[in-house]
Amino acid sequence: MAEQKKEWAVGIDLGTTYSCVAVWLEEQCRVEIIHNDQGNRTTPSSVAFTDNQRLIGDAAKHQAATNPTNTVFDVKRLIGRRYSDPIIRDDLKLWPFKVIADSDDKPMIAVSYKGQKKHLSAEEISSMILTKMRETAEAYLESGVKNVVVTVPAYFNDSQRQATKDAGTIAGLNVMRIINEPTAAALAYGLDKRAKCVVGERNIFIFDFGGGTFDVSLLTIKGDVFEVKATAGDTHLGGEDMDNRVVKYFVQEFNRKNKVDINGNPKTLRRLRTACERAKRTLSYAVSTTIEVDALSGSIDFYSSLSRARFEELNMDLFKRCMETVDKCLVDSKMDKSDVDDVVLVGGSSRIPKVQQLLQDYFKGKELCMSINPDEAVAYGAAIQAALLTKSNKFVPNLLLLDVTPLSLGVAICEDLMSVVIPRNTIIPVQKKEGFERNKDFRSSVSINVFEGERTRASDNNFLGSFKLYGNPDALRGHPLSVTFSIDVDGILTVIAEEESSGSKNWITITNNQGRLSTQQIMRMIEDAEKYKAEDEKYQKKVEAVNALDDFVYKIRHAIDDVDNRNKLRLRDQVKINMAIAETKKLLDASKQTETEVFVDHLKAVKSLIEPIMKIN
Ligand code: AMP
Repeated sequence: MAEQKKEWAVGIDLGTTYSCVAVWLEEQCRVEIIHNDQGNRTTPSSVAFTDNQRLIGDAAKHQAATNPTNTVFDVKRLIGRRYSDPIIRDDLKLWPFKVIADSDDKPMIAVSYKGQKKHLSAEEISSMILTKMRETAEAYLESGVKNVVVTVPAYFNDSQRQATKDAGTIAGLNVMRIINEPTAAALAYGLDKRAKCVVGERNIFIFDFGGGTFDVSLLTIKGDVFEVKATAGDTHLGGEDMDNRVVKYFVQEFNRKNKVDINGNPKTLRRLRTACERAKRTLSYAVSTTIEVDALSGSIDFYSSLSRARFEELNMDLFKRCMETVDKCLVDSKMDKSDVDDVVLVGGSSRIPKVQQLLQDYFKGKELCMSINPDEAVAYGAAIQAALLTKSNKFVPNLLLLDVTPLSLGVAICEDLMSVVIPRNTIIPVQKKEGFERNKDFRSSVSINVFEGERTRASDNNFLGSFKLYGNPDALRGHPLSVTFSIDVDGILTVIAEEESSGSKNWITITNNQGRLSTQQIMRMIEDAEKYKAEDEKYQKKVEAVNALDDFVYKIRHAIDDVDNRNKLRLRDQVKINMAIAETKKLLDASKQTETEVFVDHLKAVKSLIEPIMKIN
């Protein structure tokens, strides 16, 4: 099992619906996908809050139907976005939990925890999932884990990347690198090919269709060098969208048949959603399936069926959107589809037969590669990258990853014209300096407005931030200044503006305006995360103390139920035992209000009373 104590670095695929953690085992020269405490290799990206505890992963998902408004999932769809972002409006209607805007237009998830209202950011919820993945790794490795590589969709923009990094910081992790999901999958695939001794230059197309995001990348693997040629995607397209379509379809059917509107009933919608997701998965291998939910609304049961053809019809526009993105990536890479050697499927939604068929048709009947597990490939690749970044790892394959920036980055000039400084699909890290001219006379400052996107009008693109350069107030229109854009290995941007004549300089690492977290907010969240952790541990200790006491009393009862045992006891001792049982029962019944120490002390007292009288096994 665990190797000798060392500084471990793990790879975490922080998914919309499921997360996965993996580690490179140096001595065995292989990656291990780490199973969680339930024995599962992926963990639901869900966090739940109840009157007495916080649950993460499987435990949260299992109780979702009974506690829908306080069971949070899908936060990857929110991270790094503004509340007013039109893209999240539709999601808001379908989520059973409540999302509100704070004063900076940042979406906050409103839950009730221990009887109190709490507002949590997507970063905080993500940090809880990251903490769970870290604990999963720590339990397996029997050692502390601090260093991680976290994956994000290739098409995540600057603020979504920064927010994911912030989530890691809140979880107390050292995020060594943020890497793109399809690139991570390519690493996994590349290693697999190496193991199978496939050599030479290969162009591989990664089709990564997950729960909430869709990403494609075209890479060339030449020896140990993995070079991303182009990437494209949609950070808001995935299996959850199909679940939404199916839920909507059955809500209408239920309303029509029963004249009962179940919209707006979170518990009902949650149960229907679970059944719909299961049906969707079934349709990947069967041509039709049934939906059966007992007592879906009041006493009304819901039984219906769904054919694969109907499912495809409900989602055809989404599948077509995927294929448009595939085409865009090929056009960007300036490669012909016949140059692609392998088409690799990644992400749970890539199992959908119609998606596979459309993809195969696009690549003119090419066999699709399914040799790597689509649910685990991303974490697998992240673990390789984590090992590559850990200098002490001698036996990791010597791979070099050259990734690209997914969106063009630039500044607004002449009021609203986008001037691109770094075009999309430029290899990162990168630094580029561009000369600009002042467009007005006698201004004490110049505003630098930074955008990302492909539209000509700057305001049609995604606004990243703004800052002022205080230069020479006597300068005229046409006076030169320069702007330098730097993107680091995580894909995070810094912009510096300079006016040489006055020697003035100003810069930003993109913050503000995107509902970004300030350093103070992050510090506060780190403190809160520790508080949550302490509370979880405290609750765990209490549960253990209550269980130990309950268990001991159960054993006493069991022992005295046996007539032989009872007959060996003096009457006085029997009375003592019965009194101890009754007292303990009273204490257990009031367990909510009682502190852990009381249970621990009580167990000690009961043990010292009973053990001299009778043997308890
Ligand atoms: P991932 O983010 O890669 O873990 O993908 C999770 C998504 O894949 C969820 O929306 C699942 O419902 C979906 N999924 C998993 N298995 C299947 C399957 N056999 N058929 C269709 N969708 C699936």
